[in-house]
Amino acid sequence: MHGNRGEDPTEPPANSPYPWPAVSHEPRIQQLSDDFARSGLKPFHVPVGVMLDEKNPHKSRCIRCNTCDGFACLVGAKSDAQVVCIDEAIKHSNVTLLTNSLVKRLETDSSGREVKSVVVERGGSLETYSADVVVVSCGAINSAALLLRSANDKHPRGLANNSDVVGRHYMGHTNSVMMAISKCPNPTIFQKTLGVNDFYFGSKDFEYPMGHISFVGKLDAITLKAGAPAIAPNFTLELMAKHSLDFWLTSEDLPDPNNRVTIGRDGKIVLTYTPNNLEAHERLKSKLKQAMKQTNCTMHGHDCHQGLFGRNLYVGQQIPLAGVAHQNGTIRFGQDPKTSVLDVNCKAHDVDNLYVVDGSFFPSSAAVNPALTIMANALRVGDHLMKRLGVSETAYGQNRQQDRELAVSR
Ligand SMILES: Cc1cc2nc3c(=O)[nH]c(=O)nc-3n(C[C@H](O)[C@H](O)[C@H](O)COP(=O)(O)OP(=O)(O)OC[C@H]3O[C@@H](n4cnc5c(N)ncnc54)[C@H](O)[C@@H]3O)c2cc1C
Ligand code: SF4
Repeated sequence: MHGNRGEDPTEPPANSPYPWPAVSHEPRIQQLSDDFARSGLKPFHVPVGVMLDEKNPHKSRCIRCNTCDGFACLVGAKSDAQVVCIDEAIKHSNVTLLTNSLVKRLETDSSGREVKSVVVERGGSLETYSADVVVVSCGAINSAALLLRSANDKHPRGLANNSDVVGRHYMGHTNSVMMAISKCPNPTIFQKTLGVNDFYFGSKDFEYPMGHISFVGKLDAITLKAGAPAIAPNFTLELMAKHSLDFWLTSEDLPDPNNRVTIGRDGKIVLTYTPNNLEAHERLKSKLKQAMKQTNCTMHGHDCHQGLFGRNLYVGQQIPLAGVAHQNGTIRFGQDPKTSVLDVNCKAHDVDNLYVVDGSFFPSSAAVNPALTIMANALRVGDHLMKRLGVSETAYGQNRQQDRELAVSR
């Protein structure tokens, strides 16, 4: 992980620095960061999980390319689950990864307190697996669907669903891509380095949280054609892409029990979602517009910035599939079994050996990209599971040491 502690005005306490320094801004983004800072904002370097060594570029696994956002890394340099966890885990002889395998349902013993079998569809036939501890991690929509599909006599509303909370409180953020077109070109290759959280908790003129401003990967004319945004006067799509700063605005959508995942009569997943808290998002867009007006370009002065053009990605409307990228909240954790599905260790209140560790545990969605929080929680639950399974502190320490050595040798 790369980042600089203390830059983000909303940063929670931490007991150590990030392992790697923040990924540097390329010149156009640095210029924008300086402009924002001059206008009184506190722009910061966003935490990024890539294996980039800027001090030793010849040794760096990451080559800082332009396809990081939304694509798998072809040189294995992204700190994602595949590279950091799965590739390492399957080196162990006691780990097996089954691909092209769909978990259809979980079955319990007659008491309903223990998952006894995991029913999997693989190569056209059904197979059954069992384990002392079962960890579900299918993403917020599919994990909820799996529990709902696993209803039985002891769990008539769905597995672990005595609370009737499974599938409810679906959240996915209100996200917008806003392109700021300037006379200055933006030749940036890796754009996702800058964030602004000054409006995260509110402002003097609006006392409610508005959200987080950051970037998407650099847009090009081909991507723009697919999204068909409004064209800036005197600009072609190609010219727009060359001159745009491509912001990603994220606002919190609130946990509404009626926004939910259910299973239709045909067995297919149904996602019901009514957007909420939209004023916060509109306010955030206005704040960005205001911040861009203050841009003080040495070549074009205040005329450099030509306008802000938006593509809204409200969940379930314009771009339904992409709209679920930040899915979370459907199997919330908490202390009260009446209002939550999971306890604080992400174990189901109603089942003794069932855990869920994906984005579904969120009780609220916050307003930042979710992956790092999902990963941090999975590591936390992993520590809990090691204790539950009786892994000794010594063996645990040795494992951690091996992990550190592996990370350094990369
Ligand atoms: C294009 C795109 C860009 C994104 N960019 C960012 C970003 O820059 N920063 C960020 O923080 N987040 C980003 N996100 C969001 C981030 O990827 C998700 O929040 C995160 O991956 C969710 O993790 P998860 O463990 O909850 O689920 P997932 O990562 O979705 O993992 C669920 C897994 O379960 C499998 N599965 C589902 N159902 C079953 C079943 N029944 N049986 C077997 N397997 C099953 C799926 O195939 C999948 O592999 C992005 C998402 C997208 C789509
Ligand atoms: S895809 Fe991302 S991690 Fe991989 S080389 Fe490109 S910038 Fe680096």
